[in-house]
Amino acid sequence: MAVILDGREYSNIALDQVAEKVQALKKNGITPGLAVILVGDDPASQTYVRSKGKACDRVGIYSRTLILASDTTQAQLEKQIADLNRDDRIDGILLQLPLPAHLDEQHALSCIAPEKDVDGFHALNAGRLMLSLDGVLPCTPKGIIFMLKQAEIPIEGEHAVVVGRSNIVGKPAALLLLQENATVTICHSRTQDLKALTRQADILVAAVGKPKLITEDMIKPGAAVIDVGINRANGRLVGDVDFENVSKVAGYISPVPGGVGLMTVAMLMDNVVGLASRNRA
Ligand code: NDP
Repeated sequence: MAVILDGREYSNIALDQVAEKVQALKKNGITPGLAVILVGDDPASQTYVRSKGKACDRVGIYSRTLILASDTTQAQLEKQIADLNRDDRIDGILLQLPLPAHLDEQHALSCIAPEKDVDGFHALNAGRLMLSLDGVLPCTPKGIIFMLKQAEIPIEGEHAVVVGRSNIVGKPAALLLLQENATVTICHSRTQDLKALTRQADILVAAVGKPKLITEDMIKPGAAVIDVGINRANGRLVGDVDFENVSKVAGYISPVPGGVGLMTVAMLMDNVVGLASRNRA
């Protein structure tokens, strides 16, 4: 049976480290601040926003949540972002995605000042990652690397297969694994013979959004399987991996819930502190 990669344990380690950094900043009169903008009333987004607020409380970060009506216009949203860009108490601005369909996500993200872009989704920070320059790293991919390192799973020279190529998870996860000297394959909806590729993975990252897409016949025995997916099926949360059967073949597996999602929140806290240190200390 696979070793469970316990997101609670690893995120607690990360959060304790963040809390120490916050204390050090507070001694210098700096309280890191996060603003979260939520547009509309999507229940899943509301849950994520609440968990981010709780994490801020736990580590001592000042947080503010702006809830905007679902018919908010692009101009109104961007005005809120502009105000936060000028707000000295706020080090990081997070725009909770997805936005309602009438809003232009990419344009709104580009309005966040790059030095307050806590998710690392601004083109400037995405470009810095591409060039392996210092910058803000997207929270979920950063959390995956943190988890692999905590579990002492080797990355260098290993074959990492990332299923999914979104700008927020798949692509940055592939780039970070590459930076760690893995040999990286990226798969997506047009990939032919997905199984032939996933079976070669020493590290398999599933970031698709399809329950049980990854089955045990797609796994190399002993592989580390990182399940990023968050899907609602029959009223409960499941990942992209058929956990019950894949855990009989894999060497390591992250559960859903209780895996990568917790790492994402912890890395968000780390990014707020990183921005406060960089821009104010
Ligand atoms: P997107 O929908 O943006 O991307 C999904 C990717 O999966 C696309 O690249 C798509 O390919 C690919 N894909 C779709 N179907 C298949 C298939 N049959 N075989 C192979 N690849 C396929 O999703 P996100 O990256 O934003 O999110 C992925 C999942 O991760 C979701 O469940 C989301 O809820 C979850 N998530 C979890 C987080 C966490 O903290 N745990 C954080 C963020 C997201 P193509 O590009 O060709 O369309």
